[in-house]
Amino acid sequence: MQTQILGLLTPLMALLFAVTFALFWKLGAMRRHVLGFAIGYVFFAAGYLVTHLAPPDALYLFHATQLLYSIAVFLMLFSVCERVGQRINLPLMAGIYGVSALALAIAVGVTNDVAPRLIIVNTGYGAMYMVGLATLLMAPRRGPVDHAILAVIALGAIDFLVRPNLTLMYQSSIPDQAYRESFYYSIIGLVLGVKSVLGAMVLMGATIFEWTTSLRESSEADPLTGLQNRAAFEETMHAILPKAQSEGRPLSLVVADIDHFKQVNDIWGHQSGDKAISSFGKLINEMVRNCDKAGRIGGEEFCIAAYNCPNEPAERLAERIRQAFAQLAHEGLSNDIRLTASFGVATAAEGETYEQLFARADAALYKAKSNGRNRVENAERPSPITTSIPAMAQAEPVTERRA
Ligand code: GH3
Ligand code: MG
Ligand code: MG
Repeated sequence: MQTQILGLLTPLMALLFAVTFALFWKLGAMRRHVLGFAIGYVFFAAGYLVTHLAPPDALYLFHATQLLYSIAVFLMLFSVCERVGQRINLPLMAGIYGVSALALAIAVGVTNDVAPRLIIVNTGYGAMYMVGLATLLMAPRRGPVDHAILAVIALGAIDFLVRPNLTLMYQSSIPDQAYRESFYYSIIGLVLGVKSVLGAMVLMGATIFEWTTSLRESSEADPLTGLQNRAAFEETMHAILPKAQSEGRPLSLVVADIDHFKQVNDIWGHQSGDKAISSFGKLINEMVRNCDKAGRIGGEEFCIAAYNCPNEPAERLAERIRQAFAQLAHEGLSNDIRLTASFGVATAAEGETYEQLFARADAALYKAKSNGRNRVENAERPSPITTSIPAMAQAEPVTERRA
């Protein structure tokens, strides 16, 4: 009786983990792999309860447990792979389950010894874990959390493939009636309890890490464009500029400002102005590389830190964005109206601070404004200012009207 009650501890804990993951998913608006962990733990608890509570000679016992555990294993592996953007091979997983279910049916049909059944089902789970491990290893970027998950999956694979054989060396044949009193059963109870807690700790750690990261990112994001706000961009720059300098990698800064924007607000209203700012931000986000950082540093002013990017490619990037923006139609503005932007580019010199680099890029932007707007000026390739009249004072047309 006491063993029976103690045996309920593992499924109860698994259900508690399931509830915790489900709450994280729902309240934290997290991605669906967190829900996958929750459902995985529910199936694990169900499989455990069937093994523990069903009559020992029930014919369905091993089949039901195998099905429930296989779903649990599949959901866990599918979810950890999806977490890092990898898709597990579904037909292969279904094939492994099919072969192992067929082998189990044969084993149950020919003998009441549970030893072969245990080897068959565990080899099936082990094979699924190996597929999960191989899929995870293909994921591009790995941090400490990913390493911890990889270690848990690798340990799980080893456990399923090695433990049954080792345990059954001690007690090579177990009649089904004696299964719950066997040495194997007491070991499996312990192992499953430890594995479930270890797995939950690592997955919970990963979930909390993702949750805090997403909270931080949303507090650092500019709501209009989704890019970093000024404070976050400056913080990023203070971190990546010394890093680039110590690694001997070039880092270029592009500063951009929409031309004659005050008049956009005046003519088409503030809301249309907001939409234009948002479109410019989205365009920048689409056109920079993953390793670059972009931020909205003022009303209609943007900054791009092009990492590991020398001066000329950065100037070409600015030129591509300038051309793309000049072709964009804007909601709320007349159809034939196109907005333009001016750009300044500078590339970090040795020992230069972010403030010094920004001042040079900003000076180049001022020069682009003075030289007629809708152009890119490069701080590393000075061109004379063609006019000494401040850009704002020039009576220029508000926008480019399409021919
Ligand atoms: P220039 O070509 O010299 O840049 O001319 P400009 O009119 O764009 O001048 P400036 O960059 O100094 O003006 C920026 C204007 O952008 C001022 C303000 O009315 C407007 N603005 C700032 N923030 C926002 C915002 O969040 N939404 C909208 N709609 N307008 C904004
Ligand atoms: Mg402007
Ligand atoms: Mg401005």
